[in-house]
Amino acid sequence: MNPQDVIARLAELRALDAPTHGGRLLSYVYDSGRPELDELAAAAVRTMQPVNGLDPTTFRSVAVIERELVDFARSVFHADDEVVGTATSGGTESCILAVKTARDAWRARHRSGTPRLVAPTTVHAAFRKAAALLDVALDLVPVDPSTGRPDASAVIERLGDDVALVVVSAPSYPYATLDPVVEVAAAALAAGVDLHVDACIGGFALAFWPQHAAGAPAHPWDFAVPGVTSLSADLHKYGYAPKGVSVLLQRGRDRQRHQWFATSAWPGYPVVNATLLGSKSAAPLAAAWAITSVLGVEGFRELTDSMAASTGRIVEAIDAIEGLSVVGRPTGPMVAVAVDASVPADRRVDPHLWADAMRDYGFVVQLQPASIQPDGSWLPSTAHLTITPVTEQVVDELVPAAAAAADAVRGMPHLDGAALAQGLLGGFEPDDLRHLNSDAAVEILRAAGLLEPSGLGALAPVLALVEALPSELVERLLIELLAVGLER
Ligand SMILES: *Cc1c(COP(=O)(O)O)cnc(C)c1O
Repeated sequence: MNPQDVIARLAELRALDAPTHGGRLLSYVYDSGRPELDELAAAAVRTMQPVNGLDPTTFRSVAVIERELVDFARSVFHADDEVVGTATSGGTESCILAVKTARDAWRARHRSGTPRLVAPTTVHAAFRKAAALLDVALDLVPVDPSTGRPDASAVIERLGDDVALVVVSAPSYPYATLDPVVEVAAAALAAGVDLHVDACIGGFALAFWPQHAAGAPAHPWDFAVPGVTSLSADLHKYGYAPKGVSVLLQRGRDRQRHQWFATSAWPGYPVVNATLLGSKSAAPLAAAWAITSVLGVEGFRELTDSMAASTGRIVEAIDAIEGLSVVGRPTGPMVAVAVDASVPADRRVDPHLWADAMRDYGFVVQLQPASIQPDGSWLPSTAHLTITPVTEQVVDELVPAAAAAADAVRGMPHLDGAALAQGLLGGFEPDDLRHLNSDAAVEILRAAGLLEPSGLGALAPVLALVEALPSELVERLLIELLAVGLER
């Protein structure tokens, strides 16, 4: 193919994507609404394109850019001289490295055993991945299903000598709950347990949130709080950088050294990394550095003011819709929407049907499944909206769309996942379902209509199935759905 055709094909493929700009996709993308920042990022990416971020001694630009970016984060998050940091490829890597650091620090103090990681059930899935990868036992603390908030004492009760790390969120992804950082950090400090604040999504928004606006943090949550030993914040979210950059800050140089890996014992070059990847792009790092340099604190404040105003309007509008309610008291630029069970059934609005209806009005919101907590209580089915500076440009459309979508589905019950599951799986032996192979999984997905070439249609039935089926089976089916989708 000639280069023009290749690029034309790329443009065609990009047209298959959800819209990354303009504020109609309310998850995954963080549009500053300022095209000049995207241009700036593109110029930074172009400049750094050939560089290998693997070795900052060979590519000295990388060391300087990383140091300056980390310093910006340190100042934003009230870090003192004891706090050092690293740029990573994203939130998941920051979270994994926070767990690895705490685990290895714990191992240095204990001869053997499997340490625990204590966190509210709302902690980001990245910590479940970290625990699975790093042989750490996950000890999840239920949250109040009506507010999404964990009780500080319930978290503190779990502290013990075998706990390598406690994780709280500022705020949590599912419900935008600011966890009780101050109380948990005080207890963790007294118990000598490390505490990570996952500010991956909200960090660079909460730090600039107007103090008296709705959604402002009710208490400190960063390194201003004694006992916080690490904090992660993603620059590819509310730092408006292209995907591939986050920061992990750690209190204590000697603690932070557990984050590193070094080997000089193979026949090649000595490998010394503070992060998981080997060869890596420095482009997202440079883009984040460029954007933070141009915005500065003032620029972040302006963008955040806009988000605070949009968030306030959206929360108010949703609360005013009969049959829907906002979960808890969201902190920062996110909202979770649940059914308002205080009204009669024929006036209720199912959040998943509502989310699907929102698409008819040109807005894509995320569906979150109901889930069971370790104490047997259920967290509700919700819809999730991520608000960004660009939301300001569409909020006058979004507010009436939310009301109209609710009118379209009011009184319709949540889909019966158990019935859907029965229809789909009735012919299978329980044992076959426990050991599904790829072919059987594909058969189930096809019967469920999930392998249509046109892509997924309404998502409410998919989520109803996710809620009804045992999680191991759902997880296996989801793996097949994505894997098969990539193969064909
Ligand atoms: C997004 C997110 C992460 C994971 O970040 P990725 O950049 O998607 O890997 C971790 N924690 C929270 C709270 C998040 O919202």
